[in-house]
Amino acid sequence: MTTTTTDIPSAVLAALALPPLAGLDEPRASGRACVWERERLTIETAVDLGEQLAPADSASTIGQRWFPRSCHKHLAQRAHDALFTHSRQCDDCKVPDKCDVGRWMYRLMREHRR
Ligand SMILES: [Zn+2]
Ligand SMILES: [Zn+2]
Repeated sequence: MTTTTTDIPSAVLAALALPPLAGLDEPRASGRACVWERERLTIETAVDLGEQLAPADSASTIGQRWFPRSCHKHLAQRAHDALFTHSRQCDDCKVPDKCDVGRWMYRLMREHRR
């Protein structure tokens, strides 16, 4: 699969817990390396996580736009972990198909598992 994932809702990205831009090295901040484990990405392995706006909590990166990318494997792993954490504190997840975040995590796991 060579498609990229875009338009992930911000609530889903928040649950995935992207690392803050301020703490990243240049390859990860620029999307050339996996945002989670910093291995190099190629066109085949990269998943586009969409444009992010750095929050105003760190002076050096206020309002900076960046485009994190992940590999398939780590995105699926992250979605798995995030779903586990999220679903334990989410009432909507107790009802099948009700929770958007839960649905997205399932979808990310399915589409990117290797
Ligand atoms: Zn990775
Ligand atoms: Zn939920």
